[in-house]
Formats: sequence, C-alpha cells, structure tokens
Amino acid sequence: MEELRFSDAGRLYHAYIISAASREEGLRRARTLAAAAVCTGEGPVPCGKCRACRKAESGIHPDITTIRRQTDDKGKQRREITVDQVCWMIGDAYVLPNEAARKVYIIEEAEAMNPAAQNKALKLLEEPPKGVIFLLCTVNPEKLLPTVRSRCAELKCNEGMAERDEEADKLAAAYVKTVSGGDRAKLLRWCMENEGMDNRSALAFTDSTQTLLADMLCGRKPRLGLTEESIAELIRLMERCGSYLKANTGIKHIFGLLAVDPPLGSGNRGKDS
Ligand SMILES: [Zn+2]
Repeated sequence: MEELRFSDAGRLYHAYIISAASREEGLRRARTLAAAAVCTGEGPVPCGKCRACRKAESGIHPDITTIRRQTDDKGKQRREITVDQVCWMIGDAYVLPNEAARKVYIIEEAEAMNPAAQNKALKLLEEPPKGVIFLLCTVNPEKLLPTVRSRCAELKCNEGMAERDEEADKLAAAYVKTVSGGDRAKLLRWCMENEGMDNRSALAFTDSTQTLLADMLCGRKPRLGLTEESIAELIRLMERCGSYLKANTGIKHIFGLLAVDPPLGSGNRGKDS
C-alpha cells in the first residue's frame, strides 16, 4: 500500500507542469496562474484590475520571470535551455521578491531543458525557497525526467479540445463540492454511491476534476473556500488516481482513496478565497 500514498509529509506543491496541446495555450494558462499568484485584488484571482495584474499582463511584473531558450550571437534560437540558465534561476529564486508576496518562474518549453539542466532544476523543485512558484510549460510532459515530474503537480489544459464529457464534469463538480463541504462521512457516502462506474467513466471523472481544480487555481472558478494548498493536493490526488486507473487498479480502491485522502475544506460559507 505504501506506493499508493499520495502525499508525503512536507512535500511541496509549488511546482506545476502545465501541459497543453499548443505552446501558446500552455503559456496563456501559465501567465494567468502567475498573475493569480501576484494579484493583490479582492475576490477571485487574478482580478485583472490591480496594479500587479496589469503589470503581469503587460509582461513587466518584476516578480514574474520567464525562462526560455536564448538566442546565440547570430540571433538564432538555441536548441536547449542550458544549465547556466537554470543556475541563474536558482540564484535569483533565493532573492526576495521585489513587490509581490511571491516570485514566479515560467519555464517555456520546459522539455527544452537538457537532462543536466533538469537535474540541476530538480534540487530547486525539491526544496524551493519559500513563496516561489515554478510553472513548467510543455506540450510533451513525457520528455521531462520522471524525477522532475514527480515533484510537480500537473495541470492539463483541455481548452479547445473537441468535446467535454458533461456527465464527468457534473461528477467532478459534485465531488469537489463535497470535499469543500468538510464532512468526511458525506464524502465517504458520495464515493460509495459512485464507485460502481466503469474504468473509462472514472478516468473521464478524474480528468474533469483535474481541469476544474486547475480552473479554480487560476481563478476561473470559485475556490469554494479551499486553500491553494488543498487544491494543489487534490490535483495530485487526481493525477495519481488517473494513473492507477490507466494501470487498471480496481475502481473501489480508487474511490477509497478519493474518500480518505483529500484535505477537507472548512465547509463552504460562501467565501471565495
Ligand atoms: Zn489583481
């Protein structure tokens, strides 16, 4: 059972892999998330109105840094993100933020980090300085080292994908609502009522839930009183359950995890933070 544990004590949830079908889409999602991290507005973040949001939108926020492939002396883009660039990022990450409460690093085409660069980044992902968030954008998460992937929560962007599975979306909304309600017995009951579904439906459900949680994190959907940490933890749980489902682990087992593992909300009192 040990390998089915989904979170280790002290594991950090401040690194995300943003996987999208296109580079632009992933980057767009990363920028929204970065703005949400520095936003100083009220209500759902990013508010889009505060100074921090406006700076983030114009790409001039001093605490949001984008790492991308550099160009060489001839103006040609290099093929890789180098170890030197990662070393620079490590040094910079330890410098306190300029004006926001956090610093955000967006790594464009994270798969362009060569293995040496990824290994270098690993240390940082394992023990990131407090308040630092890493957003690794990629169209191909398979190209990242498994050690890197295991340190990050994966946000899948399904935007623009053909059809959404409505039934799965409804289940996802019901599940997250139950978790946020904070009543473990209720959650257990919900899971028992739904453990009869087949593998395909369960996978669609975990996918939809992941997308919903990503939207909550980006401020596109109300957070139902769940903290950022809880949402990140739930995303990892969904990811874990998804991979178990793909390995044909029994549905009852999955729903057992879904009932027992999530951090519960404090009960939604209509507060959106
Ligand atoms: Zn704002």
